[in-house]
Amino acid sequence: MELTAIEKWLRTEDPQALAMLWKEADDTRKKFVGDAVHLRGLVEISNYCVRRCGYCGLNVTNRAISRYRMSLEEIVECAKMARELGYGTVVLQGGEDYGITRDWMADVIRSVKETTGLAVTLSLGERSREDLNVWRQAGADRYLLRFETSDQTLYEKIHPSLRGRSSDRMEILRQLRDLGYEVGSGVMIGIPGQTYRSLAEDIVTFREMDIDMIGVGPYIPHPETSLASEQDSGMPDQVPNTELMTYKVLALTRLNCPSANIPSTTALATLNKANGRELGLQRGANIVMPNLTPTQYRICYEIYPAKACITENAEACGACMGWRIAAIGRTVGTGPGSRKSPSLPKN
Ligand code: SAH
Repeated sequence: MELTAIEKWLRTEDPQALAMLWKEADDTRKKFVGDAVHLRGLVEISNYCVRRCGYCGLNVTNRAISRYRMSLEEIVECAKMARELGYGTVVLQGGEDYGITRDWMADVIRSVKETTGLAVTLSLGERSREDLNVWRQAGADRYLLRFETSDQTLYEKIHPSLRGRSSDRMEILRQLRDLGYEVGSGVMIGIPGQTYRSLAEDIVTFREMDIDMIGVGPYIPHPETSLASEQDSGMPDQVPNTELMTYKVLALTRLNCPSANIPSTTALATLNKANGRELGLQRGANIVMPNLTPTQYRICYEIYPAKACITENAEACGACMGWRIAAIGRTVGTGPGSRKSPSLPKN
């Protein structure tokens, strides 16, 4: 799809045209990745962060949250729970926390692998090539690092560099690929200052970089951030951070990257707690990430406010996902749910 066609779709409000878009995305999803919805158990292992991201509540200047880092034993317990609940993957996510050392994390990865055999996905920010290499050797399979926006000027504004170091997430994504990771990325939708054109560019970038896993979700303002005051920027080409816009991006991402693994995100479920997850799965997505973080930590991992599923325990979250998937006539995936070969399937 051409850039201009994608941009036109992003601006479309006509319900009949959108109904066609949803159907095409759902057909493409079925044809390329099937009816199975893969479950990835999310463990939020640390909320310490050195960054000052203008969108994220974990930014280092936020003194209103208490900080935690889970122990190796606690993380392994969560991974065992993932296995018991039948998930194929555990996702270990955190702030960019250098208290998570290269060697400690390698131990965690080895322990999780030895104990559970699950696929391990990491999402720990912009670590050095050496860290990423050691973690890959320790058994990590995948890495998630959203580039957040392909608009370089906007990116630099919302994601300040650390002193003396540039922030080049595109370069890290290439390194991850070189090291043999399955590579995940994505963007937020409706960041103040984000234009329709740049959001269309984001989707083209997913395709050009052949990203394996693509997470897209609405930007949700957090009061303890620098961007919070900029909600009504009034810019004429401003993308709204709405549920509808999120479905458009999901559907267009599926059409442009037919074999990618695409989650129906918690940020989307936060905007529509009743059936946002299901609608995401019916408009392009094929993955959900139930939360396994122990409840006492979960409330401290507030990247944005009023997150869905904040008070449920792991079992409740898993059961809820199971019935939501069944209710829309889909099945729960088995095995690790790695990306299939991107070549066209035989009809
Ligand atoms: N420290 C890791 C993980 C960050 S949390 C990293 O930087 O990669 C994962 C994702 O949550 C981020 O990449 C971002 O896209 C999303 N996120 C953060 N703050 C958000 C907000 N206020 N609204 C919506 N999504 C947000």
